[in-house]
Amino acid sequence: MRVCSICLDGFRNYTNFSASFDPGVNVIWGENAQGKTNLLEAIGFLSGARSHRARGDRELISFQRDQGTITAQVDSRDRTFLIEAQLARGRRRKLLVNRVKLKTAAELTGIVQTVLFCPEDLALIKSGAAERRAFLDHAICQLRPRYGEALAQYHKLLDHKTRILRDWEKNPSLLEVLEDFNEAMARAGALLIHYRAHFVGKLAPRAAQIQRDFSGDREELTLSYQTVGTVRNPLGPTVSIYEDLRAHQDSHRRAELEARSCLSGPHKDDLAAWIDGQPARQFASQGQTRTAALSLKLAERELFEDDTGQWPVLLLDDVLSELDARRQDFVLDRITGGQVFITSCEAPAGEISRGKILHIHQGALVD
Ligand code: ATP
Ligand code: MG
Repeated sequence: MRVCSICLDGFRNYTNFSASFDPGVNVIWGENAQGKTNLLEAIGFLSGARSHRARGDRELISFQRDQGTITAQVDSRDRTFLIEAQLARGRRRKLLVNRVKLKTAAELTGIVQTVLFCPEDLALIKSGAAERRAFLDHAICQLRPRYGEALAQYHKLLDHKTRILRDWEKNPSLLEVLEDFNEAMARAGALLIHYRAHFVGKLAPRAAQIQRDFSGDREELTLSYQTVGTVRNPLGPTVSIYEDLRAHQDSHRRAELEARSCLSGPHKDDLAAWIDGQPARQFASQGQTRTAALSLKLAERELFEDDTGQWPVLLLDDVLSELDARRQDFVLDRITGGQVFITSCEAPAGEISRGKILHIHQGALVD
């Protein structure tokens, strides 16, 4: 899969911009605030018509304009697609593929998949479990629609149960339905644990290998999926996960009523990371943190390729800062397979063996 070319008009700080890309590595460099992240954002938008940072289309349209367009030519599954996104203030957006209007943005995900690394992803290593759960959920949702359904159902049930636990003293009759919620949550929760455990089982050895390659065999990254304590075998059949979840709910019933919050279930899961046996959250240096977060993303990209037979487009925003020469070299020269876009504030020091260098200044290409 690759993005061959893109035209932007009225998108962020781009007016009447067009560029073509290399099937390998594309280094997009320029000073701060010139449009590097905006360009990655436009490429990312081709997958699922979503931005990783804008809350709505209004933010994406240039300040002085009423509409903005992204037009791109994409090769995917031995076919060429012309993708057009027309964004307008006060009107619904229009998405077209080969000039045919799409009904849902999800149809785009079938054509373009991207894996993005941005500075906020350092939170994957340094922040709380919620970020790591979000990473797992996002990745598995893209690969397994059934997981997305179970996740949405679980969160709906969790909201309901949380309201019951909050209000049961004022309204004790609510407790009559608590068991029904526990039952349904254990069913959906068992599926979540099953998918997450299998995903991490494949992700962990790949991320560890990437971290070794990055660091010249000096660092060992260990990932471990941590779920509800009573679940004996997260990789086992979902019926036994379900039973183990039910046992955990039973043993926490009283504590939940007292705490007025839901203490039992995979909404508390974590993906723990260690570097050389020490918890990465507390002990990883800035460079190690960046490398470990990147190893997770690159491993995710490999699992996509395994699953779909195509490399997703890799978008690396501001990944080179804080990396030493060896790690920078790894990013620029040794990420093989698939198309890669890398932003940087500096021009690459040497030639890059396969690829293209694009210099951006004030939303335009510099020759
Ligand atoms: P850095 O190296 O600091 O990350 P960058 O090149 O990635 O810089 P971008 O985030 O792409 O910079 O932003 C470039 C410029 O685009 C910023 O000055 C920003 O204010 C501007 N910009 C953002 N949204 C819009 C918009 N809707 N219309 C016009 N300009 C915008
Ligand atoms: Mg930027």
